[in-house]
Amino acid sequence: MADPAECTIKVMCRFRPLNSSEVTRGDKYIPKFQGEDSVVIGGKPYVFDRVFQSNTSQEQVYTACAQQIVKDVLGGYNGTIFAYGQTSSGKTHTMEGNLHDTDGMGIIPRIVQDIFNYIYSMDENLEFHIKVNLFSKTNLSVHEDKNRVPYVKGCTERFVSSPEEVMDTIDEGKSNRHVAVTNMNEHSSRSHSIFLINVKQENTQTEQKLSGKLYLVDLAGSEKVSKTGAEGAVLDEAKNINKSLSSLGNVISALAEGSTYVPYRDSKMTRILQDSLGGNCRTTIVICCSPSSYNDAETKSTLMFGQRAK
Ligand code: ADP
Ligand code: MG
Repeated sequence: MADPAECTIKVMCRFRPLNSSEVTRGDKYIPKFQGEDSVVIGGKPYVFDRVFQSNTSQEQVYTACAQQIVKDVLGGYNGTIFAYGQTSSGKTHTMEGNLHDTDGMGIIPRIVQDIFNYIYSMDENLEFHIKVNLFSKTNLSVHEDKNRVPYVKGCTERFVSSPEEVMDTIDEGKSNRHVAVTNMNEHSSRSHSIFLINVKQENTQTEQKLSGKLYLVDLAGSEKVSKTGAEGAVLDEAKNINKSLSSLGNVISALAEGSTYVPYRDSKMTRILQDSLGGNCRTTIVICCSPSSYNDAETKSTLMFGQRAK
């Protein structure tokens, strides 16, 4: 069995720049950065594995947050990378960015490129099977097979043989995605978006097999329900999301503390991610923050979420 002590959880913190409407409104830029791993808000320091200032490039974020995990997944480990934060804090920018632009690409397209570059560099005796799954329903329907292994109904699943095919799958998923409009941000989608890359390798001469998988999760916005002005079905959905985010927080902090009991079964998402969060997995959480004085309270709450995982 995997040694729980091997479980590595890294927490990274990224601040986006002020946007033009915040500048027009006269919002203040509130974070004060100290070194590479600390940010001060309202006189209180918050320390993480790394803190990225607003001008950090997509490439720098990739190198610090994902490059090692990709190597580990190719070596047969499982891993998860999360982006957590309020709507408009930069989660999708961090995870996806501009899928088709070299500088603007976020973590996911860079991972895909790295995996295929690795495959192309290996000798012919290694056979690779790459499968991707995209889950982006608000209500994930989780089932269990006869061995009690959870699986999800209704997600897109595809075997892929090039980075382009992966990008096509993501583009397709985005256009199918259910979007609930809230006052906070009409483009905000109040659902988690979970992308899974499964890498299976087989040496055709020795028949040796290796398998690793990587979950890439763009979490739903963590903002408090009251600020979004949501009502009815949207409000119920928001409450569900807040509940699943707090379950995730509980699981991560139990893992970080090395507790013997980890409440995976408290939410659908943590049940799905279970075999890529515990054990000898690799987990990175990128908490995404707005630098604006207007979002002060949400930013502090996001920083607190990140601190619980340390
Ligand atoms: P979220 O997914 O958390 O709701 P987005 O990633 O969509 O937020 O970001 C909101 C807006 O801010 C987008 O227009 C995005 O391009 C921009 N943005 C986010 N992070 C950065 C960054 N680090 N640098 C520049 N622009 C950013
Ligand atoms: Mg988003």
